[in-house]
Amino acid sequence: MQVINTSGYGDLTFIRTWSDGTIHIGKLKDGGYCHIGGPPVASKRDLESAIPSGMHLDEALDWWENKDKIEEKKDRPKIVIQGDGSYAFDNGDPIESVADFVAYIPQGPALDAAVLWYVEAHRDKIEQNKSDATDTAQQTTANKEEIAKLTCVCGFVAKRVVKEDGSLNITGLLAHQRVCKVYQAGIAKAA
Ligand SMILES: [Zn+2]
Repeated sequence: MQVINTSGYGDLTFIRTWSDGTIHIGKLKDGGYCHIGGPPVASKRDLESAIPSGMHLDEALDWWENKDKIEEKKDRPKIVIQGDGSYAFDNGDPIESVADFVAYIPQGPALDAAVLWYVEAHRDKIEQNKSDATDTAQQTTANKEEIAKLTCVCGFVAKRVVKEDGSLNITGLLAHQRVCKVYQAGIAKAA
């Protein structure tokens, strides 16, 4: 098990993760797959790129084919939208992370809306995390700039990779932003 703390998408617990160097995907403890930075998987190709052929890929593709048929289980609570537009479990439990949505809501517009709500609702946590990241490390001005360059609007910070010429490689951030609903919603809003 690997727990990834993403400020915008909550704490995500993965059973296993895979990467092709750019796309980094994990299988969530409570079911389903998502990018380890938080965004849900939005295309079959992401699974095929990150996971090597074999048993694990077969399992992931099987999940993808059946992602619209999330089984209603009697022993687990349902997710409900409340009067104020927020989400919760119908037994009153709060949503802990985006992983709850991935496990309970089929991929598509309903999942996207829920994920966006979660990130918006935790906006203060993202801001807090950003200032923590810069404070605790006693960063030099250069490092602060680097962190800013590697940080997505959702709070995700890409791994710092430096190119041979000493410049910053932001491939990880770009790969994340291609799938980040929060980033894309921001662009849509600005346009
Ligand atoms: Zn993002």
